[in-house]
Amino acid sequence: METKTPLINILLNNKDTILKVERYTRIEFENLIISLIKAEKERQDILKKIKEFGSINILTLKKEIEIAEDLLIYNIEYLKELGSLEFLGEKSRFFHSSIEKNKIRGIFPNVKIIRDKNLCCGCGLCDSVCPVHAINYTSSTFELNEDICIECGLCFSCCPRSFFPKSLKKTKIGTDSNTRHSEPINNYLEIYSAHTTDERIKKFAQDGGIVTSLLKTAFQAQIIDASIAVSVSDEPHKPLPVIIDREEELLRTAGTKYTNSPSLKILHTSRSYNKIAVVGTPCMMEALKKISIYPLNKPLYENIVLKIGLFCMESFDYDQIKDLLRGEFKITLKGIRKMDIDKGRFFIFNKDDSIYTIPVKELKTYGRPGCFFCDDLTSEQADISVGSIGSEPGWSTVIIRTSKGADLFQKALNLKLIEKKEFAEDSKSFRILNRVAKSKQKIYKETYRPKMIEQDPRLRISNFQEVSEGLTLEMVKLEANRCLQCGMPHCISGCPVNIDIPQFLKLLKQGKSIDALRLMKNYNLLPAICGRVCPQEIQCEKSCLLNNLEEPIAIGYLERFIADWERKNQLKECPECKASNDVKVAVIGSGPAGLTCAGELARLGYDVTIFEAFHAGGGVLTYGIPEFRLPKDIVKEEIETLKLLDVKIQYNTIIGKSLTIQDLEEMGYKAFFIGVGAGLPMFPKILGLNLNGVLTANEFLTRANLMKAYKFPDYDTPIKVGDVVLVIGGGNTALDSARVAKRLGAKRVILVYRRSEVEMPARKEEYYHAVEEKIEFMFLTNPIRFIGDDKDNLKQVKVVKMRLGKPDESGRRRPIPIENSESFIQADTVILAIGALANPVLTKSLPDLKLSKWGYIETDENSKTSLEGIYAGGDIVSGSATVISAMGAGKKAARAMHKYLKYKLALIDD
Ligand code: FAD
Repeated sequence: METKTPLINILLNNKDTILKVERYTRIEFENLIISLIKAEKERQDILKKIKEFGSINILTLKKEIEIAEDLLIYNIEYLKELGSLEFLGEKSRFFHSSIEKNKIRGIFPNVKIIRDKNLCCGCGLCDSVCPVHAINYTSSTFELNEDICIECGLCFSCCPRSFFPKSLKKTKIGTDSNTRHSEPINNYLEIYSAHTTDERIKKFAQDGGIVTSLLKTAFQAQIIDASIAVSVSDEPHKPLPVIIDREEELLRTAGTKYTNSPSLKILHTSRSYNKIAVVGTPCMMEALKKISIYPLNKPLYENIVLKIGLFCMESFDYDQIKDLLRGEFKITLKGIRKMDIDKGRFFIFNKDDSIYTIPVKELKTYGRPGCFFCDDLTSEQADISVGSIGSEPGWSTVIIRTSKGADLFQKALNLKLIEKKEFAEDSKSFRILNRVAKSKQKIYKETYRPKMIEQDPRLRISNFQEVSEGLTLEMVKLEANRCLQCGMPHCISGCPVNIDIPQFLKLLKQGKSIDALRLMKNYNLLPAICGRVCPQEIQCEKSCLLNNLEEPIAIGYLERFIADWERKNQLKECPECKASNDVKVAVIGSGPAGLTCAGELARLGYDVTIFEAFHAGGGVLTYGIPEFRLPKDIVKEEIETLKLLDVKIQYNTIIGKSLTIQDLEEMGYKAFFIGVGAGLPMFPKILGLNLNGVLTANEFLTRANLMKAYKFPDYDTPIKVGDVVLVIGGGNTALDSARVAKRLGAKRVILVYRRSEVEMPARKEEYYHAVEEKIEFMFLTNPIRFIGDDKDNLKQVKVVKMRLGKPDESGRRRPIPIENSESFIQADTVILAIGALANPVLTKSLPDLKLSKWGYIETDENSKTSLEGIYAGGDIVSGSATVISAMGAGKKAARAMHKYLKYKLALIDD
């Protein structure tokens, strides 16, 4: 059995460095390796059995391998997170992309990713655990010295934020048969209200002075010879982690509430003591529980004899505390005597006896983002937990959880150091405690992102009906409930039209569908479209805090749901407009940029007309994106919303040909928005482009979509696809062309892309769908010639293999041909989908309009072009991009046009 896994090898290879750093003594290091080998062997045995059984069955595994259930469950989670159980479909849930990317299989990444994403709980354990002291953690900074880091991943595996089997948090803590249980506060033996009788402790400590009294008892009874706690430092209210080894020093630990201190960073220095207590917040207790179950860091843990947990609703970094006081109370730290939270309000007691207070809810933006992942108020993994919630001022609530905790509490009573009061289960105090604890559990509900209901791939490859069918109301409520409602919602800034996503999710969760719809329409007039085609995975969902800890909220699915709910209920919500100001504005192009700009201007009271070259509106939404992804009826319906806002649409009008902007000026239009997209196909510079069977995606998709060629002969637009179709490109257009070709009867569709799967710009969901539909992919391949038969019909494509070089100006790695790697592929049809360029029809009619060297319109940051009163946005400015970015540009331009017109026409704005 191979037990020298990468982790053990890394540690052994770095043995000399590790011993030099002196975090571990030689004996401890050797013990660590022994315990790791044992643990690795155990895990491999489990993996072998799971492979044998083809499933995870705890009962059978327990019988087959003699192992404690806790450890078994932990090991399974560990294997899952490492990706070792992928053969059962069990993928890693936390920081999945980092784990996938990790080069050495079998090693976790380091905790920098957690800190970067701000999910860190600030316990400081990683600092202690790091065998080479590459991590330096203080209460507001975290440094990882990458030059020193040996990438063993020990820090990640110990971190309470990386992964932790939820079931283990709820296992029986006490062995005592008297264990009682309440869901919000977990298992316990007894609960009391208590306070100290020691006058000195009373003077210095907060609330009931219980923690200090318990520690004093533990010293006197020689249960401990030291304790890790926090102490007030030179800077007021900036607590420092300290080791206290004398009873007389205990009074140093006071007045540090609500400021997080990474106490476990000094765990490694506490090893010179035989019996230590650790006082800390729930996340610290959880971290200790984690390393106790899986003894990777036995040397660090073995001397911990007592865990005193604190209640924690939310904690702040020291710098955040300073910002909070400055921002919300306009005071500096120097004057503060004490901070407290009571009845949902945050209190500041000033030295001059003034008291400031504010609802805790309003302080969310200051809290640590990592706190939104904690559902533990009462330090469920401690021996004894202490906090103020539920007790009167001057008293503390004490939850005794283990026999150790009970013994200590009794000793304190015997010594007459504390007094206790009943805290009955039917009392108001008990109800308050449970209610507050439950409210914290609501923050982080570990449920899974829903899977979209979809048409079976075997059926859908022969029809054009929509692939995705939407979510049910139950799925929507569950999913909305998963939102953390975090203090600094990054999803809003991740969305180019800045939808208030947390509020939208809150309304959905409360079942207030109509309000959710209204809110959505206020920000976005095209939710049914965006919910279907936006690349959420690189926008709002990418910024979702949950993205790294498990899976992001399915924001796109929920957006689609609310728009579909509107249609199903035959509603037509549209935001209010200001009174008409009779100012005429022209929008050129009815793609997402034009539609959004028109909608925003109409809401501001303008008389808006959209001029559209085609006979149908929607731009690429209508003639580019196929029916099975975005039904045309849905686009039509969303365009109808604009008509409710009194936007007029004039079809079959090519501005630059049928009419010019000068004509429009003469017709009384005062400002213009150009949103004509980038619809000119791009061609590769290779031979054979003129052969029959070589098409552009633009032509192919327009025929299929706008002219309903897929319904031939019911519609009179024929479209020919051969048996073997090669699609060249890796974006949405390429994938759409490939999937349309499959549906039109091609036997084989091969997508040829010059870069690798990772660089493909297409929406991920569409790629997965294409794979399910048996589209073949040839990555790192490029066509170099199309070869025809004697009738000039395409018969072969000569391709070359590529490798990836250094990143180019797009940030993606540049593909470079590999010498002597040419080969031939038989094909009847080639569809070129390698990109699009700006269409010059309109821009040519405006010779003074400033363009980029590629023919795109140049604008300033307010979407203003070089010509007065003319604004532009969408693909004609940015080059081929996305629906939502075009919408964002339309919205921004509308605001700028409003400002311009207000100034120019001296409009009165209410
Ligand atoms: P367009 O949508 O191109 O609209 C421009 C409009 O202007 C058209 O209606 C055109 O007819 C009209 N017009 C042009 N010239 C004139 C003129 N002279 N006078 C009057 N009217 C004129 N993005 C995503 O986010 N998700 C996807 O899944 C996705 N899939 C795509 C699939 C395909 C096949 C394609 C081609 C693109 C896809 N995109 C996708 C990109 C996205 O559709 C575009 O970025 C977006 O439509 C650009 O919007 P726009 O308003 O700037 O231009």
